[in-house]
Parts: sequence; structure tokens; C-alpha cells
Amino acid sequence: MKLRGLIFDMDGTIVDAPYDWPRIKGDLNTGGQTILAHLESLSEPERSRKWSVLEGYEKTATENAVLKPGVPQLMELLARHGIRIALVSNNSRKNVHLLLSRFHLEFDIVLSREDGLWKPSAGPFLHVLREWDMPRAECGVVGDAIFDVQAAQAAGIHRILVIHSSADRDRARFDGTGAEVFDSIPALQDRISRLL
Ligand SMILES: [Mg+2]
Repeated sequence: MKLRGLIFDMDGTIVDAPYDWPRIKGDLNTGGQTILAHLESLSEPERSRKWSVLEGYEKTATENAVLKPGVPQLMELLARHGIRIALVSNNSRKNVHLLLSRFHLEFDIVLSREDGLWKPSAGPFLHVLREWDMPRAECGVVGDAIFDVQAAQAAGIHRILVIHSSADRDRARFDGTGAEVFDSIPALQDRISRLL
């Protein structure tokens, strides 16, 4: 099946942003929950206090984020082939738009957490498929985290492409998920060019 659309994650996928997730989760004391689900489950004043802790971490990471090498070339290739692209991030709208404008990136659809659809739920990916009126078999997901893989699986999207350094010890977490794992954006581009 030919590829006609790609849904990208932002942090860790197209930009390198220095998040220390174990530390952040520890700081927020999320227990076994995902960060966003945990924050949403709280009542005031704890809810506001913890949201500002998260936003503080996000602000620092966003300020220090850099575009991954090869992203402009990949976007050029996709545009040349008429591949539709969406960005789905659990980050805030403010941070998403800040980075898109800083790195001169444009996506057909941009969803952030304010849209109320968070990974690992299938919600944001199903929304994109509906907007595009595209069969899931013609769409792929590009991410860096297990949430991206889980959201794709929940949405029935089988083409799952993951950017993850082979030097990372936790790369094994993608074993058996059906995701194809790449070391870098150029390696991913090489794979995508064979799907077009
Ligand atoms: Mg990510």
C-alpha cells in the first residue's frame, strides 16, 4: 500500500528537546498514571500547582530545543511527493507553535493537548484520518516514544516508524511492537523514500 499521509510527533522526533521524564514524573508524583491523566485527575489547588511545575519543565525544554538534522530535507521530499503531514503533540499549543515558527515548519494539521485528544489514546490519530478522509492503511506514524506506538496501534495504523538512538538502552522496548526503529532522520528518510 502506498503511503499518502504521515502523522509526526514533535518532541524527540523532529526536535531534540531536553526532557528528563523520569525526574518530571517523580517531581509530579504521578504514581502509575500518565502525566496528563494524572494532572487532569487532581482537584485544586494541587492541580494548578502541578500544572505549573510541568509547564516550567516544558518552557525550559522548548527554549533549548533544536531541530533534528535532516528534518528540512525530509519535509521537502514529502512535499515533492504530495504526502500529507500532520503534527500531533501532547505538548501545549503555545510550545508547539513556538517551535514550528522557530524552525519554519508547516503541517496540514496541528493538534496539541488543548484539543483534548492525547496519546496514547487513538483519539488524535483518528481525528487526522477523518479530516483527511484517508484509509489507515495509507497513513503512517513517526514518533520516538512508546506512547506514539500505542496510539498508532489503538488507531489501527500499522506503519509505525520510530526514531530512537541505538545507543539508548531502552530501545528494546519497541521489540515486538511492529514498529520499525531508525537511528536518525536521514535513515528514516531512506526508508520512507522506498514507500512513496
Ligand atoms: Mg516524543
